Amino acid sequence: MRANSRNLLRTASRCSQSHFRRGLRRPALGATRSSSSLTSSTSGTERKWSTSLAKMLGEATTTTGPISVAAYMRQCLTAPEGGYYTRQTTLGQDQFGTKGDFVTSPEISQVFGELIGIWLYAEWLAQGKKDKVQIIEVGPGRGTLMDDVLRTLSNFKSFARSVEAVYLVEASPHLQKQQAKLLAATEDLQKNEIGWTAPLKYMSGVNIQWCEDIRFVPKEETSTPFILAHEFFDALPIHVFQNIPQSSIPASSTIITPTGPIKPKHGATVPKNTWHELVVSPASPYTSAGVTTSTIKESDDDKPDFELTVSKTPTPHSLYLPKMSDRYKKLEDIPNAIIEISPESLAYASDFAVRIGGGTFSQASPTNKADSTAFAKNQPSGAALILDYGPSDTIPANTFRGIRSHRTVSPFTAPGLVDLSADVDFLALADAALDASPGVEIHGPVEQSFFLSTMGIKERAERLLKGAKDEDTRKRLETGWKRLVHRGPNGMGNTYKAMAIVPYLRGSKLRRPVGFGGDIAA
Ligand code: SAH
Repeated sequence: MRANSRNLLRTASRCSQSHFRRGLRRPALGATRSSSSLTSSTSGTERKWSTSLAKMLGEATTTTGPISVAAYMRQCLTAPEGGYYTRQTTLGQDQFGTKGDFVTSPEISQVFGELIGIWLYAEWLAQGKKDKVQIIEVGPGRGTLMDDVLRTLSNFKSFARSVEAVYLVEASPHLQKQQAKLLAATEDLQKNEIGWTAPLKYMSGVNIQWCEDIRFVPKEETSTPFILAHEFFDALPIHVFQNIPQSSIPASSTIITPTGPIKPKHGATVPKNTWHELVVSPASPYTSAGVTTSTIKESDDDKPDFELTVSKTPTPHSLYLPKMSDRYKKLEDIPNAIIEISPESLAYASDFAVRIGGGTFSQASPTNKADSTAFAKNQPSGAALILDYGPSDTIPANTFRGIRSHRTVSPFTAPGLVDLSADVDFLALADAALDASPGVEIHGPVEQSFFLSTMGIKERAERLLKGAKDEDTRKRLETGWKRLVHRGPNGMGNTYKAMAIVPYLRGSKLRRPVGFGGDIAA
């Protein structure tokens, strides 16, 4: 409920000091590694880099000075040359699934996407069967989730008839192609001003459109956008700040100034903490940061190319990001507290909210400068479903990680070949959405186990199990759905959360969406 979520936001000021968690990721088989050209020379010494992206970043930071974690993360994940998602991978050996780097819920079981399809259908029913529906997914990976969602939705004929277009927001041209193989009715994609387009394999007459940024997706007052974000926000860049105590002036001190000695007016100056940004710079070639932290001898390949240091001077971001929210301000008295802030995530959450509830877009769209002004909706409509990992009500800290071979590794090893992510700050997303639009309310975050169980995962899996053609399929189905809801260390039930942004209709009766405590509307 809107009012409740506001209260929750106000009281949530604790800082989660969660540490690196075991990942679900596996190493890329098709990845290319070091070559003899990955050296550069600084002050007469040869320096070896683990990847060409590391070399490029290392040389750039030698000239410009350290960069923010956000800039580092952005380059490592989506640099046009050698970015983790944007690099070319061998067919069948991409980042996803058992042969790839990591496994996500839609890749584990088809039931996941089917239930999300049903969630969208239930929302559409509850909102009075609106037409001009846009189905939007950000960060669709292989396209598996969208495939399961659309297959499910195309069984509901009246819903399918209301769908105007499907939009996939994807930074990687290679993944766009993979998604097209799965979802397009033809291999012949057409280029238009915002990206590629093709007829959809499901729902005749409906087109699928790719673009690299949500701001390219058209906004119309009468459209009803249904937006999905699964394991997308954890890949968006974060800035990291630490609250460093400043040296204080002793109580009785006199300050010597050019015009003579003065006594501080208000007595002793209280020791003050200041937010300093943690920044990324090349690791010293003489020490091996990766080895000093562990008694296990790591190979040269595992040595981090970069390291985190505290920026001594303010950065453009340290001056305003930690001041943005009372949640961060409440940590100002806690020395050495760490906070992670993802401005890009907040921009995405605001964008979702304005599409659903109307409001003001904070950034001009690349295609339409007028978007920086107010966007009025005839009536709030649509929904956004965000599924990801992160704490329910605390600010993530120390969660920036690299993932490889099902293991958490330093995010500074093999840039471009290691997946990078950070916990999602769900309350910050909720805050951003509520601030951006008066026409939305937030439900959740709830644990994935609660969301999927109340959506009927057990019943759906049992029905599929009855029809399973062999023992192998049975086993896969059984272990798959249980892993999605299991709340233990090997399950995804409590680490992953679901949060929904839905229309807020002034004066209407409270309605909880299904999966968040509500029932399917008749
Ligand atoms: N939703 C999928 C994939 C998750 S991985 C699944 O659960 O299986 C993250 C996805 O987001 C990838 O498709 C990646 O290419 C995409 N991505 C990462 N950063 C992005 C950005 N800044 N803009 C658009 N897409 C991005």
